[in-house]
Amino acid sequence: MNEFAANRTVIEVIYLVASALFILSLKWMSSPTTARHGVWAGELGMLLAIGGTLLHRGIIDYTWIAIALVLGTIIGVPLGRVQMTAVPQRTALSHAFGALCVTLVGTAEFYLRSPDISRFMMAVLSMEVILGSLTFTGSLMAAGKLQEILPQRPLTYKGQNLVNFLLLTIAVVLAAYLVIHPAARQLYPFMLLIALAFGVLLVIPIGGADMPTVISLLNAYAGLSAAAMGFVLDNKLLIVAGALDGSSGLILSVIMSKAMNRSFTNVLFGAFGQVQASAGAGQEAKPVRSATAEEAAAILSAANKVVVVPGYGMAVAQAQHKVREQYDDLSKEGVAVKYAIHPVAGRMPGHMNVLLAEADIPYDRLMDMEDINGDFPQTDVALVIGANDVTNPAARTDASSPIYGMPILDVDKARTVMVIKRGMSPGFAGIDNPLYYLDNTLMLFGDAKAFVGSIVRELTGGGQS
Ligand code: NAP
Repeated sequence: MNEFAANRTVIEVIYLVASALFILSLKWMSSPTTARHGVWAGELGMLLAIGGTLLHRGIIDYTWIAIALVLGTIIGVPLGRVQMTAVPQRTALSHAFGALCVTLVGTAEFYLRSPDISRFMMAVLSMEVILGSLTFTGSLMAAGKLQEILPQRPLTYKGQNLVNFLLLTIAVVLAAYLVIHPAARQLYPFMLLIALAFGVLLVIPIGGADMPTVISLLNAYAGLSAAAMGFVLDNKLLIVAGALDGSSGLILSVIMSKAMNRSFTNVLFGAFGQVQASAGAGQEAKPVRSATAEEAAAILSAANKVVVVPGYGMAVAQAQHKVREQYDDLSKEGVAVKYAIHPVAGRMPGHMNVLLAEADIPYDRLMDMEDINGDFPQTDVALVIGANDVTNPAARTDASSPIYGMPILDVDKARTVMVIKRGMSPGFAGIDNPLYYLDNTLMLFGDAKAFVGSIVRELTGGGQS
């Protein structure tokens, strides 16, 4: 008995340290200077959490645990090696696995305990399973859309919101019945199946452009379901970790929605990506002015102040190291170079900060949107590298635009704007960008890495273009 109590105390202490590490991890990850510590703290916390759980006296055989460990490693290692542009779908897959685990554990606990289960416990278990299953299928759909295995455009039909609402209501009514009559085991699979179907139907009407916000919302659901599982299993660490996960997912969703000027209801029911279908089609070709790398290099070296605006195209082209070389060359010529970071540039929050930090661009050169926007009228050249939607002035001027009201980088106010992109394709929101047709705009057509490379060659004097 004493030995049992001692074992329990050791586990509780390990869990306490792990919880503290998770909290520190989130705190440290909120600043680029301490982010690495944040990752280490999170990893150590997870190691302690798993180690502490393995010390549990209730475990009588480690065979299945070892098999799960090997399987998890086989799946996890390649998942950790994906390109940074694929991180949103990778994250969605992680949520799907976590939510599947929560659902399976909840289901096992139900069949082990019912009908001897308290009403409170049954209510929490139902919440765990409903949230877990809808997050599982919803995250799979989100990953499929982002990976373009499934169509990115919103799949809508008449009465969709009503059908979804009815399904969720039925699942909740079944859960309520099970709380009162936990012996009605035959109803459980229906509750589970309806919640699984609801996850699919919840995500298919949402367009690709809103997917990262949806993923962060699903992150919050996954966290909440894990916290509920913590109550069911009487595991304080799970409650803490789930609550941290749930709340940080929610905060991230709010930040993203604000940066895109969209409300949650708008994200979930607005079918934003629908505009993609109409954009491009029926668009008459308007004239644009283009320039060569040689001309661009000459304009850049004649400038005093240059603001570089990186976006998704810089990320896919992996142009950040060339961008760094360009920074070195221009700085040598006495040009003041800054980088304007839009909160949703790229495909995940912080995407541009991570890439530019990877290329060792001094962190004090990176400016947030609010801080740099006032500088554009005094800027000689705004050099846009693979960014599109986050520079679209229609967000300020065109009330009919789907991105109207979204805060943007005011690059059009610079004396000269140069835009590196491969052609006239739209960005993620699927809409045309009036910036490209302005008198002070020059289009630099080409792959971001190759074009910046050519500019660098021109700047260093060895150019041929
Ligand atoms: P964007 O609007 O998606 O535009 C990217 C541009 O890069 C495209 O117009 C594309 O044009 C160009 N491009 C692609 N590959 C290229 C290459 N190899 N070289 C040069 N250019 C290339 O990107 P953004 O301005 O960064 O905006 C991000 C979008 O994602 C926003 O709509 C935002 O709302 C959305 N979003 C982001 C987040 C987030 O957390 N970051 C979350 C939710 C939604 P070409 O094909 O003509 O080259």
